[in-house]
Amino acid sequence: MERTKFLLDENEMPKAWYNIQADLPKPLPPVIHPGTGKPIGPQDLAVLFPMELIKQEVSQERYIEIPEPVQDVYKLYRPSPLIRARRLEKALDTPAQIYFKYEGVSPVGSHKLNTAIAQVYYNQLAGTTRIATETGAGQWGTALSFACNLFGIECKVYMVKISYEQKPYRRILMETYGARVVASPSTDTHAGAAALDNDPECTGSLGLAISEAVEDAATHQPGTKYSLGSVLNHVLMHQTVIGLEAQKQFEKAGVEPDIVIGCVGGGSNFGGFALPFVREKIVNRKATRIIAVEPTATPSMTRGAYAFDYGDTAHLAPIVKMYTLGSSFMPPSIHAGGLRYHGMAPIISALYDQKFIEAVAVQQNAVFAAGVQFARAEGIVPAPESSHAIRVAIDEALQCKARGEKKVIAFNLSGHGHFDLGGYDAYLRGKLPDYEYPQAAIAQAIAQLPKVELA
Ligand SMILES: *Cc1c(COP(=O)(O)O)cnc(C)c1O
Repeated sequence: MERTKFLLDENEMPKAWYNIQADLPKPLPPVIHPGTGKPIGPQDLAVLFPMELIKQEVSQERYIEIPEPVQDVYKLYRPSPLIRARRLEKALDTPAQIYFKYEGVSPVGSHKLNTAIAQVYYNQLAGTTRIATETGAGQWGTALSFACNLFGIECKVYMVKISYEQKPYRRILMETYGARVVASPSTDTHAGAAALDNDPECTGSLGLAISEAVEDAATHQPGTKYSLGSVLNHVLMHQTVIGLEAQKQFEKAGVEPDIVIGCVGGGSNFGGFALPFVREKIVNRKATRIIAVEPTATPSMTRGAYAFDYGDTAHLAPIVKMYTLGSSFMPPSIHAGGLRYHGMAPIISALYDQKFIEAVAVQQNAVFAAGVQFARAEGIVPAPESSHAIRVAIDEALQCKARGEKKVIAFNLSGHGHFDLGGYDAYLRGKLPDYEYPQAAIAQAIAQLPKVELA
């Protein structure tokens, strides 16, 4: 009998997250205060985040224990399965083995719940009663809404207006979990009102929605905090539960991946899956190829600058060193809403800069073609974000076929696409546009990067 699923028992779930800061060859660059232009201290962040998360953000401890109440909620859907895509292998007629870690089994449909539960837990411990956040396509807002509901915390979500209008079901899901959702830009904040004054038809962006949520938290003190679903060090660390499980599962399968692949928006699902494998490269000199996949429409790593930049449009959020397209860059409206962010996690950026990982950019129609091919072989309809990873997994498997190589390819399937059928519809009807690299818009936004002088 050939195995298809590699499962762990609940008691085999990792008891600690992995913090790659302990193993980075060079420490991360400092985080800069957007007002003073000086490195930020823990107290500057205390208005936005509970102290435990601020400590995790800068921690150099290799492993941080997952609190029991967090493990308890993880058990609703973890450990998630590692699945061998045998039918896809057959459809591609490749000698390669293809495995995927499936995070779509989470009740909210994506990996984002892994950090939402942890963040809300630490907020509750610190006495937070209300959390403000932003959401693009709605995956993060959905995860945070459910987590807030579990821990008895109010949740306010600023949802990018274009998604609010195009994806009413995501809004309804958030409201079902008990959150209050407004379209961003909104008149609830100065940042939103200013954007609407400037352009009443503004359809919003993730950078602008972040500005609104940050302002909301800063102006509703005490009691309200802010929460971010990607990019930050502690978020990537919470997500490492994915890769740590996968390593145990590959042990059961008796193979090790030669190629590890994930899609990148802010870098959290890719980081969560790949960072434990990056550790093997740094510490044990493993030769694993680790590939981050982004859209050609928002190519922060393949076309951006490695520079200090604001995390948001209104420049209220901290400045970090990252691969960025510039905070004024307005991404085209691709269907993979979760990948429409101008920057990239500082950890992922540093690893790319130091050549521990590779990056590639892919076109929207090629991504949907991969998603459809995967759905027809394996049954799961992937989120358009995740299909970026599938595209490159398929391309690598076809290369193996051409060269007669039996490589082991692993990718993270970060979520299902049940709320993205509008995108599938457009693809199936041949109405999906492709986006070339937006070179001129990138050059213009990069010219406006802040100047940061380090002492
Ligand atoms: C949000 C999201 C992403 C992109 O965010 P990352 O932080 O880069 O992981 C990818 N896939 C899914 C399903 C998402 O919801």
